This record gives sequence, C-alpha cells and structure tokens, in this order.
Amino acid sequence: MENKELWQSVLAQVQFHISKANFATWFQNTEIISKKDDMVVVSVPNAFSEEWLNNKYNKLILKILHSADESIKKIKYVINPQAAKTPSAKNLSPVEKLNVEQLNFEEFKIDKETNLNPRYAFDNFVVGSFNELAHAAALSVAENPGLTYNPLFIYGGVGLGKTHLLQAMGNKIIENSKKKTVKYLSSEKFVTGVINAIRNHNIDAFKTNLSLIDVLILDDVQFLAGKNKTQEEFFHAFNSLYEKNKQIILSSDRPPNAIPELEERLKSRFEGGMIADITLPDYETRLVILKTKLQEKRVELSDEVLDYTASNVKKNIRELEGALNRLLIYYKMNNNPPTLEIVKKLLKSYIFSPFDIANYKKIIENVVKFYNLEEKDLFEATRKKEIVRPRQIAMFLLRNELKYSFPAIARKFGGKDHTTAIYACKKILQEFEQNNKLTEEINLIKQRIYSG
Ligand code: ADP
Ligand code: MG
Repeated sequence: MENKELWQSVLAQVQFHISKANFATWFQNTEIISKKDDMVVVSVPNAFSEEWLNNKYNKLILKILHSADESIKKIKYVINPQAAKTPSAKNLSPVEKLNVEQLNFEEFKIDKETNLNPRYAFDNFVVGSFNELAHAAALSVAENPGLTYNPLFIYGGVGLGKTHLLQAMGNKIIENSKKKTVKYLSSEKFVTGVINAIRNHNIDAFKTNLSLIDVLILDDVQFLAGKNKTQEEFFHAFNSLYEKNKQIILSSDRPPNAIPELEERLKSRFEGGMIADITLPDYETRLVILKTKLQEKRVELSDEVLDYTASNVKKNIRELEGALNRLLIYYKMNNNPPTLEIVKKLLKSYIFSPFDIANYKKIIENVVKFYNLEEKDLFEATRKKEIVRPRQIAMFLLRNELKYSFPAIARKFGGKDHTTAIYACKKILQEFEQNNKLTEEINLIKQRIYSG
C-alpha cells in the first residue's frame, strides 16, 4: 500500500474510535512521510499534535497500521510546521477533498451551547429488534419531554448507538421547540465541570446553570462511579430538574444496579423512570445498516460484498461503519468497487481480530474493571463480599471461557486448595440460572472481554 493510501485508511478507522472534535483537532494535517523497515514516520503540524498522538493515540494508530501491514512495528512523529496550513481544496484529489469537507463539517456543526451534532438523527437510526424498545422510548420522550418517562435510562455495550440515540433526542426536541434549553454532556465533562466549579469557588453558578436546563442529557454515567462529590452534585441537580418536570436522559454501558460505587439514592433515581437496553444487531439488521449508510453516501456495492461484510463484522455498529468506510476508501482510491477477494483482504483486521479471543489477562482486567477494583484486590486473601464475588466470577470465566483446570485456576489465585476453585465455579453456575442480575453482569463482562 502507498503511504498516502495507508494513512487514509488509518484516518478512516481512527474516526470511529474517537470523538469528531478530537479527530479534527489532532489528525488534521497529518500524513505519512516515509516508511522504512518496521518504522513509519508521520508528520504532524505542531508539538501539541506530536504529544497527543504519541501519548494518547499511538496504540490505536499502531494497531491499525499493523493490521494493514504486519511489518510495521513503530511510529515516529515529526513536527513539520509547513503542514499546518490546510492546503487549498483545488490542489487535492477527490478523496482528499472529501476528507477535508468531512472534517470541516464535523468540526463546525457541533452546537457550542447544546453540544449536539446534527449528524445524529432519528431519520438515520436503523431500528431492529435489538434496539426497538430503546428507540420507541426515545421517540416518545423526544416528542413529549418531561411527560412520559423520566428519567429515560438507555444502556448497552460500546458502539451500539447510545450516543446516537441520545443526540437524536436532543436534536428532535429542539426541532420541535426552539425555545427548549437542551444540554448534552458526557459524564467526563460533567465531572470536570464539578471539579472546576469547586476549585474556582463558583459551584453556585454551576448549579444555577444546571437548574435552567429543560432537557439534560448525560452520556455514559458509569463514569460517575466512585466520583462522590460529582454524584452529590448530580443528585441535587437531578432532583431540582425532576421536580420541575424537566426531562433527564441518561446512558450507560450497564444497568443502574450494576454500576459499582454509585450511591444508592442515585441508583434508585435512575431506576425510577424507564430503563431500556440496546443489544447486538442480527445479520439482517447489519445488512440494513450497511445499505442505509450506502444510500446516505449515494454509493453502491454488490450484494455479495454486503452479504460478506454483514455476515462477518459482528462486533458492533461502529466496527461495521469502520469496515464499510474502508471499502469505500478503496473504491474511491481505485475508482472501482472492490471485488469479494479484495474485500476479504481489506476486512481482515475486522474479522480475524485478536479481540475475538479471550485470554487470562483480558478476563482478569475486565472483571477488575467491571467491579471497580484494583487487580491486587482480586488476589488478596479476604472474605469480603465485594471481593469474593468478583473472584468467583473470574474463576468461573477462566474455567468456562479458557477451559482452565481447577488446579490451574487455584495456582493463579495464590495456590489455594483447588476445591475453592471448584466451589466457586459451581456456585456461579448454580446462581447463573436463577439470578438475573448476575447473569446480566457476567454477560456484560463477557461482551467486553470479546470486544477489546
Ligand atoms: P455508543 O455511544 O453506544 O458507543 P454510538 O452512538 O457512538 O455508540 O454509535 C457508533 C456509530 O454507529 C455511530 O457512528 C452511529 O451513528 C452508528 N450507529 C449506531 N447505532 C446505529 C443505528 N441503529 N443506525 C445507524 N447507525 C447507528
Ligand atoms: Mg457513546
């Protein structure tokens, strides 16, 4: 692959992993300037970009490069201030033009007040049995904010359309009534907001601002886990909005009762309205999603290519979009649609992804993360309930997913008698059938183990 083409495919995929604003900020005016042995040299316009790409995105970029060309093992970023000027559009090839236009579109269209991006709409949201309930609830709330389900809590794994749906609701509410004050916030932003307000002694102003909102949309609330001060502020904001029949919309990667270190009073508020989940789309729906995206872009691909893509890219919708984008870039670069043979090559990294395989490290990491523990806690000799249960789940997963023997499991956990491992697995298995909460938690952990 040519350097240019290689970098285009990196950009195409990076877009699906990071926010549009970040993408525009850190990846504009970057390019591969050389590739030698196992090293790729990327030019960036300034020291900020260099630092960010190096520290935050290097792993992602390397993964994508490596999947396109296995010989690549290292990336070096060099600053080239010349690149800072956006080249005038007339010197660009059609593909580059397209990318520049996309960048600008994304960058300028996010509304500064509401944080809403018009790209996310109900019109381009595909509905299937996997998200039907969430969609119906969202539509009903968007038509009558504050009057139907309050709060609306939507949960599901990454890349399945939570942000899309939340943003579509915000857009629709404003479309119906320009006077409504809608605010979309990522939970990360909310936490930073609280911390800054405390630091700058203007928490009262922060609170007043929140209380003026008609529709508050808070994305990824699992991020509030363990952030006590923020939870307290959010609790008050929640109550004050709720009492005035203002709409609150929340999303998370798991149901409220599975968010660790979330105050009980918040949990019960979250559970007080409507809870709807989004699961994985099936083959038919994946096909519809592909066709819808193609229609939007006014491009066609053969049925066999679509069938192959929909059958094989199953992880989530973000990946499906990434795969499609990769095919479209090929199409544009070559002025010809890719044949099935080429598609198989282009999509290799999506299909034979190392993420599809579980291993010891991934199981431990995901269990620990899910229950908000430190890795060493899991191996500590303790009978504390908060630790014993996750430890039993880790043992159960090692047994079920990796077929570890009981003595092998026992060795991993400090050489304990292997009957402990047998007991743990039996206990989880027994409860698995009766305890919905546990079943759900284990399924969510498994989803993460298998989706990177
Ligand atoms: P999440 O917030 O759950 O991680 P996103 O809302 O960011 O997922 O969705 C990932 C990508 O998939 C987005 O580009 C989004 O537009 C697209 N997407 C998700 N669900 C759908 C859907 N039902 N129909 C069309 N596109 C979707
Ligand atoms: Mg999201």
